[in-house]
Amino acid sequence: MPELTDAQLEKLIKDIGLKRPRGGSERKPIAHGTYRGARQHYYRKEPLCAPCRQAERDYQNERYAARTRQSGGAR
Ligand SMILES: [Zn+2]
Repeated sequence: MPELTDAQLEKLIKDIGLKRPRGGSERKPIAHGTYRGARQHYYRKEPLCAPCRQAERDYQNERYAARTRQSGGAR
């Protein structure tokens, strides 16, 4: 394989239309204070900040409440 100069490499990359990989959710700013934000913290393997922790708790409580309401109290 012939060695390419930086300029040639650059041209080649442009020619084949190589794009930078999309960052996906990891590159978006965290929506702190929301359940989504909490998920983003988890995804990045970092500790949740206080607003996100609270938001997640609220979300779980809501889901739990909805479930128990729906089942009419399964106890
Ligand atoms: Zn947060």
